[in-house]
Parts: sequence; C-alpha cells; structure tokens
Amino acid sequence: MHVHSVTVCQDRVDVVVRIDDDERMRTAGDDEAVRRVFDLLPGLKRHVCDNVEGLTFAEEITDTEVPHLFEHVVIELMARSGSPRGLKGETQWDFSRDGHGVFRVSFEYDDDLVCLGAIKTADSVMAHILDGTAPPDIDLETARLRGLRSRMPQVAGALTRG
Ligand SMILES: [Zn+2]
Repeated sequence: MHVHSVTVCQDRVDVVVRIDDDERMRTAGDDEAVRRVFDLLPGLKRHVCDNVEGLTFAEEITDTEVPHLFEHVVIELMARSGSPRGLKGETQWDFSRDGHGVFRVSFEYDDDLVCLGAIKTADSVMAHILDGTAPPDIDLETARLRGLRSRMPQVAGALTRG
C-alpha cells in the first residue's frame, strides 16, 4: 500500500492510496496481520463502523479493504494524540474512474498537523501490519504529535502580538 498524495482541505484531509498487488487489497485470510493490528493498537477493538452489515470494526477487520484498515489506524493515532474520538474517516473507491487499486480515504480533523503526522505514522504501522517490518514506537510518535498540537496557540499568539 502506497500513500500517493495528501491534500489538506478546509474541513477534511484527503489521501489517495494505491495498492498494486490484488492479493494484498483485503485483509481476508491474513490472521497474522489482524493479530499485529490489535497488539499494536488495542483501541481499534472499540471502533465502530458505518457498514450495511452492522458489523463492529473488530468483526469487519477480518475481511476488509486494506485502505479501510488504514483509515481506522489514522483515526486511532489521532485519538491517541488528543483528537476527539468522534472524528470520522471515510474510504471510497471507483476503479473505473481513478484506476485499478486506487482508493480515496478522507479524514475529519481538529488539528491539521496532527492529522498529517498520524497519516505518516500510519504508513509505517501498515508496513508493520502487512509486511512484518519493525513497528513504530506508538507512545513516542503520539507524544510527538501532541507536541505539535500544543505549539500551535503559541505561534498564533506571537503573530497577534505583532
Ligand atoms: Zn470503518
């Protein structure tokens, strides 16, 4: 899974991701990946999800699109960095329009820098989950993102003081 582009809009951040390998497009059958997800981010077990089947995310994760998992990983990282748990993500795709394997994932955000940092960290979380590379230090990364958040008011204060 590659993050192809990230666009910060007024009310959301849009991410385009691409998956080249058809066999890696869903989590189905990859029990090891599911185990790694919950080991690294146990908070994902509590996520709810809008889907027609009425499944919880813990049920849905056993067979879902990899970019949809990425969406929930980003939302969880943002929450652990102090963003409201109610922020929503959305995963859409239209292969006939955008090309095969191209997904559009959008995020609501309360702080754009925290959202962008969470997307970057989620990229290495996904590499760990899918390929078994070394996991990022979640506590360290989310502490860093919290630091970005607290710096913002100081910058604004300095500007208004002229
Ligand atoms: Zn979902």
